[in-house]
Amino acid sequence: MRALIVEDETRLARNLKRALETLPTFATDVLGDGGEAWERLASGEPYDLLLLDRMLPGMDGLELLRRLRESGSRLPVLVLTALGTKEDIIQGLDYGCDDYLVKPYDTGELLARCKALLRRSQEHPAPVLRVADLCVDTRTHAVARGARSIELAALEYRLLEYLAFRPETVVPKAELLEHLYDYNWEKFSNVIEHYVWSIRTKLEAGEEPRLLHTVRGSGYRLAGESAP
Ligand code: CA
Repeated sequence: MRALIVEDETRLARNLKRALETLPTFATDVLGDGGEAWERLASGEPYDLLLLDRMLPGMDGLELLRRLRESGSRLPVLVLTALGTKEDIIQGLDYGCDDYLVKPYDTGELLARCKALLRRSQEHPAPVLRVADLCVDTRTHAVARGARSIELAALEYRLLEYLAFRPETVVPKAELLEHLYDYNWEKFSNVIEHYVWSIRTKLEAGEEPRLLHTVRGSGYRLAGESAP
């Protein structure tokens, strides 16, 4: 999944990015200017989560949020702010944010809220994703097939989790490239093939039936059955 952090305090932004990237789930971009962030979002850049500071140069966080919702976007938004009065929180919620954290916040709480927001937005509120005998725990990032636990590298986990949120669905390779890497990444399409190969090797190490299917010319599909 891809997260965009909009925060103008460099140190805070760096800490946020670092915290978010302790989760294998996220590729993270940071922008410090509200106007630039709006341009990025309005251009259709496919983010899955927005962490938004309220007081920003270029464009105020609430104005950005208002425009985003007016454009019809359902992107989950967590507002991070030093403004913690009840009125400020109500205003943020009224503008269409999904959750609100007052600075200074606890990193553990922040990450838990990010994960919860993501699960809700993916229409999968339960923290454990199951596809046939595969379990992907979005809280601990533990992956198992039946009783056999599987060690995945961060990007392997990110890809598998993205597919596990969409079981039985053919996900195009282009979509994976857009949602698994940050803005500055050179998007080479063969990296996906490499990760699919490597995930498959691990998923099938106990001779279990195939779960991660290639649909020729279309993309990839995580499912217990091979027929679409
Ligand atoms: Ca600020």
